[in-house]
Amino acid sequence: MSTKGTNSEFELIARHFMRPAANAVLGVGDDCALLNVTNGMDLAVSTDTMVSGTHFFPEVDPEHLGHKALAVNLSDMAAMGAMPYWATLALTLPSVDHAWLGAFAKGFFDLAEEFNVSLVGGDTTRGPLSLNVTIMGEVPAGAALRRSGAKAGHDVWVSGHLGDAALAVAHRKGLIQLDAGDVEETLMRLYEPTPRVQLGQALRGLATAAIDISDGLLADLGHICRLSGVGATVEVERIPVSDTGARYLESDAGRTAIVSGGDDYELCFTAHQNSRESIDDLQQMLGVPLRRIGQVRRGKGVSLLGPDGKAMKVDGRGYDHFSAP
Ligand code: ADP
Ligand code: MG
Repeated sequence: MSTKGTNSEFELIARHFMRPAANAVLGVGDDCALLNVTNGMDLAVSTDTMVSGTHFFPEVDPEHLGHKALAVNLSDMAAMGAMPYWATLALTLPSVDHAWLGAFAKGFFDLAEEFNVSLVGGDTTRGPLSLNVTIMGEVPAGAALRRSGAKAGHDVWVSGHLGDAALAVAHRKGLIQLDAGDVEETLMRLYEPTPRVQLGQALRGLATAAIDISDGLLADLGHICRLSGVGATVEVERIPVSDTGARYLESDAGRTAIVSGGDDYELCFTAHQNSRESIDDLQQMLGVPLRRIGQVRRGKGVSLLGPDGKAMKVDGRGYDHFSAP
């Protein structure tokens, strides 16, 4: 820790966070990491902070936390169609707990290895528990998926299924009562989301706009609409839900979780109608379900169509840290 002498800080870093950085010229240990960026590629950079009590329950299993801190960043790379290579980790810790750090590092590095990401640096300070990961990767110059390319007439798609993570949060907060058998499964979706990195790369040249769903479908598709200068209509019945999620569709809290619950880290993207076959092929190739849920249209904002074809209103427009409660 910076406030507790450099020896213990160095030991902490050496013990938990110094691993060979396969993709880097120079990794953890010096004043800077050195990275060799490929000619003809754009460098893609994203950062995400997770604060105890805001983004995770303080008593959460540190291994899940290590996974999630990296997963949410990998998801941003996925949303741009980028290939992740390097990450830095800034940790603020109330105290040094080696068992906690060991478990956190395991969750982090297990996922990092899966995606060939090297931890190349970071910072360690004392204070209320919070984590920041910055991720860097590459995308062929000019080929990144952006939020701004959707046009009227394009289809709206989502990957995987939506709502399980939010159902777990609603359950933890006592807003909904999940059956005992559903708790574990939805909690795993909350704690260990699967970033859709391969899918994002495969969507280059197919998707006209993309975003990862961190704040909820309505909010995140709303970002695509705003930046693309269009509106979108989503048919609620087409939104893909898990078998578990399907059991809670009839309740208000269940419906809200599915259309505006965050933390799913699936991709929402738009594409030309004549890309439908190619996108269907992708789901076979990658083993990731892809569902067409609506249409981009002229206008503004996201509207929902209920099963009867009539406009539907659902509470909650996604998580916003600074909006009034
Ligand atoms: P400086 O004081 O020059 O910023 P530090 O003492 O903070 O350097 O860090 C020493 C080395 O350890 C640097 O290479 C830094 O990137 C790395 N580092 C510090 N904290 C972490 C961490 N939590 N995870 C990974 N690397 C870290
Ligand atoms: Mg430092």
